[in-house]
Amino acid sequence: MFTTQNYVVASSLDEAYELNQKPKSTVLGGCGWLKMGRRMMSTAIDLSKLGLDQITEQDEYFALGAMVTLRQIETHPGLAAYFGDCIAECVRHIVGVQFRNCATIGGSIWGRFGFSDPLTLFLSLGAEVVLHKAGVVALADFVNMPYDRDILVEVRLPKRGQKAAYVTHRASATDFPVLAVAVCRTADQTVCAVGARPQRAALVVREDGEAVQAFADRCADTLTFSSNLRGSAEYRAHLCRVLVRRAALAIEED
Ligand SMILES: Cc1cc2nc3c(=O)[nH]c(=O)nc-3n(C[C@H](O)[C@H](O)[C@H](O)COP(=O)(O)OP(=O)(O)OC[C@H]3O[C@@H](n4cnc5c(N)ncnc54)[C@H](O)[C@@H]3O)c2cc1C
Repeated sequence: MFTTQNYVVASSLDEAYELNQKPKSTVLGGCGWLKMGRRMMSTAIDLSKLGLDQITEQDEYFALGAMVTLRQIETHPGLAAYFGDCIAECVRHIVGVQFRNCATIGGSIWGRFGFSDPLTLFLSLGAEVVLHKAGVVALADFVNMPYDRDILVEVRLPKRGQKAAYVTHRASATDFPVLAVAVCRTADQTVCAVGARPQRAALVVREDGEAVQAFADRCADTLTFSSNLRGSAEYRAHLCRVLVRRAALAIEED
């Protein structure tokens, strides 16, 4: 569990940003991850009164406020109507409903965890993040940016007619994924995001006319995989071949 000297409920994003510039200040999301550590904070910055807990549909995108919970995206009818079941599928394995009622999109995407299910799916959907200081940044860039003291305000899921499938392999229900795969097709291209390699999710673009198995093989052969207690690099590469094929076929058959 973490400790903090001060606790501030921010009354504006500017105030939250200013407070966060001080060393050892920490932004609080749902605290699901923070409470697993022993961080000593100078100031804990609570964003819960800034109206960031809403999902709104715009003409061009869905906006997910940073304090939107994983459970909100799992059960949101508008997201389901537009993206199908891939959104719910990417979070339904995460711990349990009570946990998903607390864990936030802001904490999940800011964390850029290698094992992250939402990060993997959102990358394939072409998401963008809105940062208070840096503005709008493609998630594909944000995923490899170093941690700084900015604040994640919103995640945008563009409406590009995506058809996406999300699949993972887990050693047991609710465990972290051994490998996570999202395949997304738009009118322009098909991409695959592979996460939990165990490195952060990375994208591979399907070539024109490339057969499903050839695409799956190329993902497995070109991405890097590593070993940890959940699986070896070789096992992950093998899973990649299987899961990319499965996800790509799912969107072709749909
Ligand atoms: C036991 C356990 C199992 C899990 N299993 C999975 C899993 O299988 N798959 C999966 O994808 N995820 C998993 N997670 C991660 C979880 O889904 C969340 O991603 C995680 O808890 C972070 O979200 P949070 O709201 O709790 O963030 P917090 O713990 O509050 O914050 C996490 C980090 O993000 C920073 N932060 C939070 N919000 C912002 C913001 N708006 N701007 C800037 N920085 C911010 C915090 O300062 C902190 O550094 C698991 C977590 C736990 C504890």
